Parts: sequence; structure tokens; C-alpha cells
Amino acid sequence: MSEPRDLTTYEEATRCPFGCAQPGKFVTSAQLRVPRGTKVETWMCANERCEQFEERWQVQINRDGTIPPKGSGATGPKQWDIDAHTTAQDRQRARDYMAMLEQQGLQGGRQV
Ligand SMILES: [Zn+2]
Repeated sequence: MSEPRDLTTYEEATRCPFGCAQPGKFVTSAQLRVPRGTKVETWMCANERCEQFEERWQVQINRDGTIPPKGSGATGPKQWDIDAHTTAQDRQRARDYMAMLEQQGLQGGRQV
């Protein structure tokens, strides 16, 4: 196995993806049931001068500590976020997204 150059590092992934590239502020994290051990952290831009100040994004962390590259479809800016202002529709979308992730986990080489 060669150096996986396309993997995003945790440090990179926690920087604002919207333009300012400053280190974000950790908001919360959630465990995915499938694939087991996968975690999704929510981060928020903490740079007041950024146009996307307080905008949130998700960082997926695999069980082995790797981060799927941006644009892999696993996670990405503004696909969904949940906070006090999240509408019921957004929450449903987030649940659907989680379900989809779980589906992918089941189809993607689940070991029995
Ligand atoms: Zn920013």
C-alpha cells in the first residue's frame, strides 16, 4: 500500500472549508453505528472576519483514524448541520443522510 496522498489530515479537516482556512471550533461529535467506530464531528468557523463565520461542517473520522477526502461524498460542507435553529425538515434530512451512510456501510464490504 502506497502513501495515501489523497487522505485529508485531521488538522486540515478541522479548518474552515469555506474560504478562511482558519482552525475551526469543535461543536460536537456523534458515533455512527455503521460502519462501527466511525465518528462524525461537527466543527464551526470561529473566525469573525470569515464570510462564513459560525457556519458548520462535518468531519468524518474512520475507525482507523483516517479522514475521507473532501468530495468523497462521505461528508462535506453544508450537506447538513444540526443546531438549535435546525428545522424539522433539516433534521429529517440529517436522519436520511445518516441512514444512507449506514446503508453504504452495510453494502461496502461488511465483514461477517
Ligand atoms: Zn471561516
